[in-house]
Amino acid sequence: MSLDTFREDVRSYIAEHCPASMKNRTFHFEDAHEVYDTADANQWLQAMAARGLTTPTWPAEYGAAGLSYEENRVLQEEMAAARALPPLTGMGVSMIGPTLLEFGTEAQKARHLPKIISGEIRWCQGYSEPGSGSDLASLQTKAVADGDHFVLNGQKIWTSGAQHADWMFALVRTDPTAPKHDGISFVLLDMHQPGVTIKPIALISGSSPFCETFFDDALASRDDLVGELNKGWTVGKRLLQYERSAAPAPRSKKPKPANAFATIAKQYYGELDGKIAEPQARDKVLRQTMKEKALQLTVQRVNDESRSGKAPGATTSIFKFVGSSLSKEGSSLKAFLRGSAGIGWEGEGFGADEVEATRSWLRDRAVTIYGGTNEVQLNIISKRVLGLPD
Ligand SMILES: Cc1cc2nc3c(=O)[nH]c(=O)nc-3n(C[C@H](O)[C@H](O)[C@H](O)COP(=O)(O)OP(=O)(O)OC[C@H]3O[C@@H](n4cnc5c(N)ncnc54)[C@H](O)[C@@H]3O)c2cc1C
Repeated sequence: MSLDTFREDVRSYIAEHCPASMKNRTFHFEDAHEVYDTADANQWLQAMAARGLTTPTWPAEYGAAGLSYEENRVLQEEMAAARALPPLTGMGVSMIGPTLLEFGTEAQKARHLPKIISGEIRWCQGYSEPGSGSDLASLQTKAVADGDHFVLNGQKIWTSGAQHADWMFALVRTDPTAPKHDGISFVLLDMHQPGVTIKPIALISGSSPFCETFFDDALASRDDLVGELNKGWTVGKRLLQYERSAAPAPRSKKPKPANAFATIAKQYYGELDGKIAEPQARDKVLRQTMKEKALQLTVQRVNDESRSGKAPGATTSIFKFVGSSLSKEGSSLKAFLRGSAGIGWEGEGFGADEVEATRSWLRDRAVTIYGGTNEVQLNIISKRVLGLPD
């Protein structure tokens, strides 16, 4: 099928199957379950999964569409043009799936990938522990081999979405006597078992986006050891690179919606000859827009250059650092542009979009922490990209 025919095909498929409620909206990742636990979202998921378009470039043998780089680009452009939300999000698609494609055995791929593609199984990440965040390799959760299983004891923390997850990928200590990076293994385990206890962590905002997860003789099958025993650090690091490389979608060839910063600035400062009336606000909007565009184009260029499907590397830390910093600066700018309306928390004096903007601004404090803090990214860039001494 030519790319033009393919474009027509996916355009009409999206038009036919994407419900209006799954278009023209944004949401914060903490609210993903409100958006995706709906009948419309399920209909959209089923339609896209039926053609393997939930994970467009994964191999067809597992139920994915097996699209080429160019076909996927067309698909992403058409999704952006339709302003359609992705039919499936989460750690299955963005983290453990790519990691299994690279490190999993054939049996592991056949067992887990189809259920990720169909959206049947949701995953969470068991990395951080109360004493191990940036220094992740100091993790203490023990896994002891016993027949066909590993028996897990210990605690994970900040487990995003654990209360909604069916399975977890986890880093565990399988050799307590080895140097810290060498005694770690990467395992998969079912969350629905008596040995796993989940306690959602309530935030001051009232939401509970993440949990404490306790293991008391929890079981992980030996068949679900990914990579070699005690060599899980390599697998775990690669997964973090997939997490950090979650890049913005390619540019749409269709007209983009009005610049969100400019729209807000015009709303609060007025418009003069089609421009933001206040010079300082105009300058800030221009700078932020240019930086975001530069990042978007750089990500696109790197994606184009590595279209061979090469696994991501340490350079993903650059995108994580720049992208998360820009995201935080962007939400701060939106609060600044709104003036006193940009700090509304509740009450009749503030519109729904103003209250939501304040919440987004505060929630965005987390983007430079999860997936490794900005300081950790700078350490990786110094050592692994620039080759500076320790
Ligand atoms: C919204 C959110 C979702 C998360 N989801 C998950 C999840 O699903 N699963 C999971 O396992 N974890 C998750 N995390 C945890 C996250 O990975 C950790 O918070 C992060 O790795 C930092 O660890 P820490 O909080 O223990 O901070 P610490 O490691 O204690 O760091 C404290 C401060 O010291 C700085 N610091 C530490 N070491 C160095 C160093 N060597 N050089 C310079 N500065 C340093 C850090 O940058 C930071 O500013 C999530 C976190 C957040 C905020």
